[in-house]
Amino acid sequence: MAESKVRKAAAAPAGKTARTTAGTTAGTAGAVGTVAKAAGPAATKPGKPKKPESHLAMVRRARKINRALAELYPYAHPELDFESPFELLVATVLSAQTTDLRVNQTTPVLFATYPTPAAMAAAVPEELEEIIRPTGFFRNKAKALIGLSITLRDNFGGEVPRTLDEMVTLPGVGRKTANVVLGNAYGVPGITVDTHFGRLARRFGWTTEEDPVAVEAAVAEIFPKSEWTMLSHRVVFHGRRICHSRKPACGACPIAALCPSYGVGEIDPQKAAGLLKYELGGQPGQRLRPPTDYPGAPAPSTPGVAGAEAAGDGGVTE
Ligand code: SF4
Repeated sequence: MAESKVRKAAAAPAGKTARTTAGTTAGTAGAVGTVAKAAGPAATKPGKPKKPESHLAMVRRARKINRALAELYPYAHPELDFESPFELLVATVLSAQTTDLRVNQTTPVLFATYPTPAAMAAAVPEELEEIIRPTGFFRNKAKALIGLSITLRDNFGGEVPRTLDEMVTLPGVGRKTANVVLGNAYGVPGITVDTHFGRLARRFGWTTEEDPVAVEAAVAEIFPKSEWTMLSHRVVFHGRRICHSRKPACGACPIAALCPSYGVGEIDPQKAAGLLKYELGGQPGQRLRPPTDYPGAPAPSTPGVAGAEAAGDGGVTE
């Protein structure tokens, strides 16, 4: 897919970005411009009280955000390296309270040592703990990995199950982990509410809920099922690259005109451009083996390489 105007806006010099977020370009950015009259920067002018947004208007705006994010991140993907449902399940369990990058740097040795649920079920706990130590909380995670491997071996014939109800019977597996695996290994639509998704859903005005299950339910009402998995990736991509937890880059954000939270972060276009991360900020991604359409550089296989750690923005929680 040719680089879109929205993507160019994120990578463009600050002045150009500011023009695009003001809605003066065509295509998706044109849609952004139309909505700018009702939301985002244009709606935050002092002295003009904002009209409450109807539910229908919010749904329309939410779907425009999804389309704009699809154009901005046509290459959005899970940021954990995996080659099988079992590997994705293990990597997702390990991703709690750490970066996907750190998990990706840990799993090559882990999967070479324990390639199947039966092998991991028979692991000596201390040896498994030593391998996954860099991901933090390694004793609890080792216990969960051995427990879920035993359950897979004994109850599911060594296969990762394909339904949410079965998935959540595995030790250490909640709805988020289950949705990640079902959506990305089996193509079953699911909304993955991690810390990034929850934060952005609230900033976008899609919900005021804090509880991940309540956020998931609210967002499920807004979007058709067919969009759930890719929507999750796009929103998380945006949260990691532009709409950060502490320093959102509002001034370099191509969807600013659709966002009622414009202004919670840096609005100076030049300063905001300096806050962009990963491929948009010229830094490596989180995957050692990214998909072929990913425009950024692969992550280094060793922790501590300049640039990659700084780009890490984890916080994925169950
Ligand atoms: S960076 Fe700012 S404008 Fe963009 S989505 Fe986040 S809060 Fe909204």
